[in-house]
Amino acid sequence: MPVNTIPPVDLVRQYKLISDEIDSAVLEVVRSGRYIGGAVVSDFEQQLAEYVGSSDCVSCNSGTDALYLALKALNIGPGDEVITTPFTFIATAETISLVGAKPVFVDIERDTFNIDVEAIEAAITPQTKAIIPVHLFGQPVNMTRIMDIAQTYNIYVIEDCAQGTGAKWGEQIVGSIGHVGCFSFFPTKNLGTCGDGGAVTTNDQAIAQKIQIIKEHGSAQRYYHDVVGINSRLDSIQAAILQVKLRYLNQWNEQRREIAQRYHQLLAPIPGIQLPQEIKGGYHVWNQYTILVENKSNQETTTRDNLRQKLQENGVISMIYYPIPLHLQKVYESLGYQKGDFSMTEKAAKEVLSLPMFPDLTLEEQEQIAYALKDYCH
Ligand SMILES: *Cc1c(COP(=O)(O)O)cnc(C)c1O
Repeated sequence: MPVNTIPPVDLVRQYKLISDEIDSAVLEVVRSGRYIGGAVVSDFEQQLAEYVGSSDCVSCNSGTDALYLALKALNIGPGDEVITTPFTFIATAETISLVGAKPVFVDIERDTFNIDVEAIEAAITPQTKAIIPVHLFGQPVNMTRIMDIAQTYNIYVIEDCAQGTGAKWGEQIVGSIGHVGCFSFFPTKNLGTCGDGGAVTTNDQAIAQKIQIIKEHGSAQRYYHDVVGINSRLDSIQAAILQVKLRYLNQWNEQRREIAQRYHQLLAPIPGIQLPQEIKGGYHVWNQYTILVENKSNQETTTRDNLRQKLQENGVISMIYYPIPLHLQKVYESLGYQKGDFSMTEKAAKEVLSLPMFPDLTLEEQEQIAYALKDYCH
């Protein structure tokens, strides 16, 4: 029987639902002749700050730049260590290296995919300057524990909120809890634009000012340069699109939560499959719905890989985030980590499979996905 192809994410469906608003927002910028900066960008910054619950927001070119700018503004550089997870997108660690500091990895918790908060203290040294917790897949990290540790050891917390825009720990939206929050507006994130974009949020005005200067070639006053900076701008068209989309973010996150709930119902219980859980005290925004497929293969191709292939034959495109932990990447050979150093991370890399997840995924599609999955597992 021919089946429909279900993509991991379908951005066109979302666009079609709000195309009138997006089109007119974009055209207004195009017709204005003002393509860089202006009220459209500063208004968006203010709206995001309000949404997150931070006093300040500085927009920039990407989530990667947001992390880089945060590290730079906190004066983190050569000789410093920054603790983070090896189970994340490369940008989290890459920016630590780019400022000249050393990434120090801590294993993850199997149930949340996030950094194991109980293992952080053992990795702290006199050189540790910051922790970068990553709210991976939209799951918030236990920020109470992170902030306790940070206070005890007097270190900074930079939240990587790239996959968790709108996620909450307790009543607080992530990005407002640590010293700095870093956001990405890459198209597939929960608040995604039609191109690249990013932002930094903080409750510390001095940090916001520093970031503002660094992102504009190190200058507070045009053509007067005080420090070495970069060019990192959120362009006006992207800001206009993001203003529209921010108004829908809570609704879309709620839809993601309903879809996750439906997956729980459709997929439980399947032998050999562990479904993702929401951390107690957290509000998960499901950028990814990632299951664990217990590995029963001793070949190079895992049980997960075989399931992925089978799903694809049935029109279901799933993704692997992430197949190779950062401590085993070639770029980090010089850090001296070995296979076996982070067993939970390495196991997850072999077992994770992210099923299609986007706010407009239909019930029929989810049923097709569940059918294909159960068929393979029986
Ligand atoms: C997407 C992502 C980034 C980087 O964002 P870009 O906008 O693509 O530069 C950083 N960290 C995590 C966890 C991400 O998922």
